Amino acid sequence: MYGIYIHVPFCIRKCPYCDFYSVASSEDLRRDYLLALRNQILSFDRVSADTVYFGGGTPSLLTPQEIAGIMSLLRERFDIDDGAEVTMECNPATADAAKFRRFLDAGVNRLSLGCQSFQAQTLRSLGRLHSAEEAKEAVRDAREAGFRNISVDLMLGIPFETPDVAERDALTAAELDVQHVSAYLLRICEGTPFAEGVPGIPDDDVQAECYRRFCGVMDASGYRQYEISNFAVPGYESRHNMKYWQCGQWLGFGPGAHMSDSVTRRSFAADIRRFIDAFRDSPVGDPLPLMQYEGTVDAEEYIITSLRTASGLDTAELSRRFGVSLSVDQISLLEKCRDAGLAELADEHIRLTRDGFLVSNSILSELI
Ligand code: SF4
Repeated sequence: MYGIYIHVPFCIRKCPYCDFYSVASSEDLRRDYLLALRNQILSFDRVSADTVYFGGGTPSLLTPQEIAGIMSLLRERFDIDDGAEVTMECNPATADAAKFRRFLDAGVNRLSLGCQSFQAQTLRSLGRLHSAEEAKEAVRDAREAGFRNISVDLMLGIPFETPDVAERDALTAAELDVQHVSAYLLRICEGTPFAEGVPGIPDDDVQAECYRRFCGVMDASGYRQYEISNFAVPGYESRHNMKYWQCGQWLGFGPGAHMSDSVTRRSFAADIRRFIDAFRDSPVGDPLPLMQYEGTVDAEEYIITSLRTASGLDTAELSRRFGVSLSVDQISLLEKCRDAGLAELADEHIRLTRDGFLVSNSILSELI
């Protein structure tokens, strides 16, 4: 089964740490984007899909009618499972209960709210448009509108964060009774204002303690960590994101969107003008030549993404899909990790422990 990703490349204002592709919206640009998106979707052959994900950018800047239009086109063009998970990312500054209700009517059944933090100082340091209270209000509004599958996105390792702040954010998410929490460590990306220097970034030890304390609250509140940065009430794991972590299949539409048929990865350039020029006039015959070749899905990628999940690496699946086994050196390294409490090795499964997750970058780079 495929997943379908729609990249909505519009934001009200660029956050100073963000390197996702987005531009300021205007009526004309949005109209041309929606037309090009329609033609791109119509260019693709029919597949069966059980997840749809509107990511960005800020998908909640589209109107509920526009989201409903895209959903109805997807249902016409592809076999979308009746029980499909349909996620929309949403900036808390862009929707209220009435708008959430109309997104629900449009077919969205899972919201991913980009709260980032529930503390005023950390939100200010991230240049977010919403306050801590507005972030909480967005969660309550979404529930009041009828959403029963709500995720909040938070960040760790942000300026002036302390372990107490991380713990308070985790507690607030749990008190808001959301079904899913993502907590990504801030990455300083080249080309962003943060790359030119940002005060108050906690050092590695403080970041590690923030992560441990955050995870501790998630454990105590009934969430299961199923990926290095993701926690869910059992049964509410993101089905769409699991396709990425299991090197599965998904189609990606819009400028900057990636796609994979589980063998080859492709993307469309992160450039809305080129996207509109390529797809404005009519559905093209074969859209794949317009996509950039990004590489082949190989054993290394499978090992890396699997070891980010709590279920870990299935070595029998590695051998079945890619015809390779771990080398003697790789096994020896993993045994050392096991002896240091960083990994667990059992039958045909290898998984990193929480302490292993904390140093996963070095383990994975040595392993690969
Ligand atoms: S709202 Fe989200 S996508 Fe847009 S700039 Fe901020 S972090 Fe990036």
